[in-house]
Amino acid sequence: MTPLPATVEIVEVGPRDGLQNEPTVMPTAAKVEFIGRAMAAGLRRIEVASFVNPKRVPQMADAEAVLAQLPRRADVQYVGLVLNRKGFDRALAAGCTEVGMAVVTSDTFNRRNQGVSTDESIAAWLDIARAARAAGLRAQVTVSTAFGCPFEGEIPVARVVEVARRVAEAEPFEIALADTIGVGVPSQVTEIVARVREALPGVALRCHFHNTRNTGLANAYAAVEAGVTVLDASIGGIGGCPFAPAATGNIPTEDLVYMLARMGIRTGVDLEALIATGRWLEGELGRAVPGALVKAGSFPKARAIA
Ligand code: MG
Repeated sequence: MTPLPATVEIVEVGPRDGLQNEPTVMPTAAKVEFIGRAMAAGLRRIEVASFVNPKRVPQMADAEAVLAQLPRRADVQYVGLVLNRKGFDRALAAGCTEVGMAVVTSDTFNRRNQGVSTDESIAAWLDIARAARAAGLRAQVTVSTAFGCPFEGEIPVARVVEVARRVAEAEPFEIALADTIGVGVPSQVTEIVARVREALPGVALRCHFHNTRNTGLANAYAAVEAGVTVLDASIGGIGGCPFAPAATGNIPTEDLVYMLARMGIRTGVDLEALIATGRWLEGELGRAVPGALVKAGSFPKARAIA
């Protein structure tokens, strides 16, 4: 077995993936404070907004306003999620320093989520990657529903590999494998990472997990064990679908940092600051967040910087 990595980079996705699934719309000023708290905690890649149809995702209607109020920092990447060329043009104009595009392995989900076929989304991604390169912007792409689809069920690993191969033609700086609906288990992570890496040696991989069925942190461990050194997480584990009461959000950033820190893996993130932000989020959202450390606190007490 290869040794565990010494460091893991966390991409904070709470301000986008977390908030876009909340039943209420967080005011712009609170979003800016949320992102500021994430930066103060040491997070350096933050998914700050999605540039999608505001009629479909009203929680992200103020994407441009959020970006306009963020400080420009050379050491922080503001990631904008885009699903088509129009979204990319908006993200670029708004001042994002990195764009992420999503392509869904399941054609049914792709059509429901972004209104076009998977093939059309791949074509859009290839165009976006070219435009990003011309503009000097970092561009990465997520292979969504890689671990299962709510409409098509199990997704064959060969299909995940095929979609990853096709999006890799644009030479993204990173490809993410996403358990969009939180159905994955660790053995799947091990297999899918190995198969994608075999098909695309040398391509940097990131993983995106949801904790819907309580397997999120176990999946994160499996990814790290497989050598993946970049993981998405959301402070407080916020998110989930307002129409599915049992659904939860991404893996909680503070729970992930706690696990990694206790294993001797550095993230450069201040755990106590994350917990404080999780508690602040509870006040803003008017409800408890799913994260465990927000309730239980850290251990031992003095562990501040991971
Ligand atoms: Mg997600």
